[in-house]
Amino acid sequence: LQQVSKIYKSGDRSLTVLDHINFSVEAGSTMSIVGPSGSGKTTLLGLCAGLDRSTSGVVELHGTKLNGLSEDQLAAVRNLYVGFIFQNFQLLPTLTALENVMVPLELRGEKNVKPRALDLLDKVGLSERSHHYPTQLSGGEQQRVSLARAFSNKPQILFADEPTGNLDAETSEKVVKLLFDLNKEAGTTLVVVTHDLELAAKTQRIIRIKGGKLVE
Ligand code: ATP
Repeated sequence: LQQVSKIYKSGDRSLTVLDHINFSVEAGSTMSIVGPSGSGKTTLLGLCAGLDRSTSGVVELHGTKLNGLSEDQLAAVRNLYVGFIFQNFQLLPTLTALENVMVPLELRGEKNVKPRALDLLDKVGLSERSHHYPTQLSGGEQQRVSLARAFSNKPQILFADEPTGNLDAETSEKVVKLLFDLNKEAGTTLVVVTHDLELAAKTQRIIRIKGGKLVE
């Protein structure tokens, strides 16, 4: 990111949520983004992942400048490189756990995706719950489905927004292990937004955002 700002406008009022942010993340490394509630962390993650656009400045992902891309081009870049774990999971409510994990694989045009999706669910310890719908799963289970889904397209970079936010200590440990295993085994770059300082301490680098500025 080079000089990246995000300003939300409503009527004649404007709110600067990110103010001239600069940083880069080395491929294959792990980084966390910490800072108080409302400081702009989720917004920042969304910009990095091409889910949202900056108001000014340059966001470059894997050698591609995201700023000038059309919506379709942005979606293609995301499909190619990016996995995203949302703070509130964002599972599709009308699909089972298994189907939720199958969606990105099918979107990529892959055939015979069921065994792979089952394998991914098995990895997160949920093979027994594969036919459950999101409302039939606990928060931690939904989080693990969302992890399996994010892993499914073997992303080069995984963005995770509060991946342990709603989990008990034991499940949180499992999820953290899965994230770091993916980094070690597949070389996936990991960028995590977290309030969990224990998790942050495990990443190679920590940046701190406060009032929209990168302060540390
Ligand atoms: P938390 O730790 O509580 O999740 P955060 O650091 O991730 O917070 P953001 O979600 O990035 O913070 O929000 C930063 C600021 O931007 C907040 O003041 C929020 O109210 C504001 N904001 C976020 N999205 C929008 C939007 N679509 N329109 C207007 N303001 C927004």
